[in-house]
Amino acid sequence: MDRMTNRAGNGAGGALDTTTCPECGAVAEVTERAVLESTDGPVEHARVVCLARHWFLLPTASLTSVSARSEVPASLRS
Ligand SMILES: [Zn+2]
Repeated sequence: MDRMTNRAGNGAGGALDTTTCPECGAVAEVTERAVLESTDGPVEHARVVCLARHWFLLPTASLTSVSARSEVPASLRS
């Protein structure tokens, strides 16, 4: 509905960053990155929006990467 399609300010080569929602565990999309000052110096934060429309501003270091997906054992398939 309000999906943002701006690629100009991304600068990441068009790769879509995804993580998991800390609230509900659903797939969340990184929509924005910003460097914020902290007591330990600048920290890169990312705004993430999940499928349930929760949104968070989190340090990128705390994001759960789902791009490096591990192999799912075939025995887990139903
Ligand atoms: Zn969520």
